[in-house]
Amino acid sequence: MITIKNKFSIFFSFSLFSYLLLIGSFYVRVIDRIEENKNSFVTQADLHYQDIINTRAWNAGLGGVYAYPRDYKPNPYLKNNTIKDANGTMMIKINPAWMTRMLSEYSKNQDYHFSLKSNTPRNPINKAEGFYAESLKEISQMKSTVNVTKYHFIEKTQKFEYIQGLYLEQACMSCHQESHDVIDGLRGGIAIEINANYYFNYLTNIWNEFYIISIVITVLIVLLNILVYKFLRRVDEIEILNRTLEDKVKEKTRELHNALAGSHLGYWSWNIQTNEYKVDEIWRFILGLIEDEHIFTIEDIQKLIYPEDLSYVKSTVEEAIANRKAYVIEFRMQHKDGTYIWIESSGSIISYDKESQPLELSGTHQDISKRKNLEDEVTHNNLYLNTLFDKNPNIIIITDGEKMLKTNQAFFKIFYEYSSLEMFLEKFNCIYELFVTGADTNFITNVKHLWIEEIFQKEQPIAKIIYKSKTYYFAVQAKKIFEQNSTSFIVTFSDITETYILKKEYQRLAITDGLTGLYNRRYFNQIFTQELNRALRNNHSLTLLIIDIDNFKLYNDNYGHDKGDAVLQKLSKQLQLCSKRSNEFVFRIGGEEFGILYSEFSKENSLLHAQAICKSVEDLKIEHKYSKPLDVVTMSVGHYYAQNVQSLKVETIYHNADQALYFAKQNGRNRVADYDAMLAHHE
Ligand code: GH3
Ligand code: MG
Ligand code: MG
Repeated sequence: MITIKNKFSIFFSFSLFSYLLLIGSFYVRVIDRIEENKNSFVTQADLHYQDIINTRAWNAGLGGVYAYPRDYKPNPYLKNNTIKDANGTMMIKINPAWMTRMLSEYSKNQDYHFSLKSNTPRNPINKAEGFYAESLKEISQMKSTVNVTKYHFIEKTQKFEYIQGLYLEQACMSCHQESHDVIDGLRGGIAIEINANYYFNYLTNIWNEFYIISIVITVLIVLLNILVYKFLRRVDEIEILNRTLEDKVKEKTRELHNALAGSHLGYWSWNIQTNEYKVDEIWRFILGLIEDEHIFTIEDIQKLIYPEDLSYVKSTVEEAIANRKAYVIEFRMQHKDGTYIWIESSGSIISYDKESQPLELSGTHQDISKRKNLEDEVTHNNLYLNTLFDKNPNIIIITDGEKMLKTNQAFFKIFYEYSSLEMFLEKFNCIYELFVTGADTNFITNVKHLWIEEIFQKEQPIAKIIYKSKTYYFAVQAKKIFEQNSTSFIVTFSDITETYILKKEYQRLAITDGLTGLYNRRYFNQIFTQELNRALRNNHSLTLLIIDIDNFKLYNDNYGHDKGDAVLQKLSKQLQLCSKRSNEFVFRIGGEEFGILYSEFSKENSLLHAQAICKSVEDLKIEHKYSKPLDVVTMSVGHYYAQNVQSLKVETIYHNADQALYFAKQNGRNRVADYDAMLAHHE
């Protein structure tokens, strides 16, 4: 497509070319006319020259003429320049030269003036100067005998100056013999001056005219270009507008077509009186009757309607007619292929007879089978989902994090006190309000909104609920649902009470000593490291007691192993009783050896605590006649207190406490020995 820019460039080039051609030809014409004018001056001068030559030839032919002088003097450059007539009156001789001279005098101060010019004059008045001298010199150098003319215009004096050579002829020789002139020799020239006022005026006028016309043409061309440019732009704009409009019309038409084709709206009209039922192509197309062009009756139509739907259709239409209202109805009609399709039919009265009774009804038909099938599918899916939801063995709730919106039957199996969600909601907002928090880090909080967050954050979120004095544990899962304006959650609770309790029991057993119920050696290792780190972090003190029953072998030997076991159990209970603070741990670390770990004591209090434990065992007064310190069961305690655990290792602490125990045994048993005191003693 040629753009507006290209179109304009073409026009501009064309107009520039025409402009230059016009101005050029006009210029050439002006130059021509100036030349013509100039030539007319030359022709004029040529004619004058010829006149002078003719007159001179006439005079020369007569060998000069004689005349009676009045104002004239004889030619001083001529011999025998006078004669006397018969009466004795003097006559002067007028030869061509003198005649020319006289005539020249006559033409002075006229628009036209001529004179003789010579570079070698006898009469000094004829001396050629300036342009004439130059021209004569050039003419003489040309050595030509034929009309060589020289001329020019002088603007300053407004004159046309012209000169043509003057050659000697036979007739001239009578006068020119003595001066060694020869025939055909250049004697000089005849200069003709013409007033060139007119010429210069003409020049001024013609150039002015040229300039004015050029300016006018330029302006016109520029204007024309501007106009053309604007016109082209307008044309372009209109074209674009037209195209846009065309496109829009096309688009709208397409949309309309699509809408019509997409909607598949068939049209029908029913004349109640004639019973004629007219339909259009789309109506026929819907029922596969596209080739069936006959006009139906209302009975034909009724036959096509699904028998079960017919009475409903009839009553709806009759009611609409009676109430004079429009209707929309859905029913099934038989397609040509035998199947039934769903039709959405709309209708209304469009004309009445003279008695104002409804005469004609019309409306549309639309195939809505797809929609109906989808609806069926949705209904089916909903049923399926509802069943899945309701009959799910897990509790499923839908909540916004604050309030419970929906739940299933499993919920009411546990919370049997409530038979509907409404009832439950009278007491609680949501299930989370029943959660019990506890030592297990997997338990979900019962704080509003936070509980939902924890479900997503915790690795194995568990909801602990105590309801009607029964404890339940649920594994919880949640899924976020984004709806138009809000977010809700589907939360599933799977009852894991049995497995949870079992698991906890296994976990407990794994760290407990079977005989005494105290923590076992394995757990001791774990807790010891843990507590050391905690003390290090919090800059707390840490105490380790290592306890051994005194002369226990003797007890076993004398009272029997079973009784020995019973003692172990009693002592364990006693140790537990004495160590009730949180972060105080009692372990059975060997056969009849125990460990107690505690922190945050001053050294003094730590020792007092150890001594109290030791004394409390003695106070149990369990008979042991064979024991060395007393006749009851006692024990020795190794006490190691670290004010600052920095740079201490578990091995060191254990070793030091064990050393202290050894020291206690050596010093008579049934006592507490402090490691530092032991070191002081050794020193
Ligand atoms: P000491 O005062 O020096 O500790 O003397 P002791 O007899 O207690 O010596 P030791 O600590 O070496 O004795 C350990 C005894 O503890 C040996 C064993 O008969 C007894 N014992 C170890 N484990 C058990 C157990 O599980 N049950 C019973 N009944 N006795 C045990
Ligand atoms: Mg021992
Ligand atoms: Mg012992």
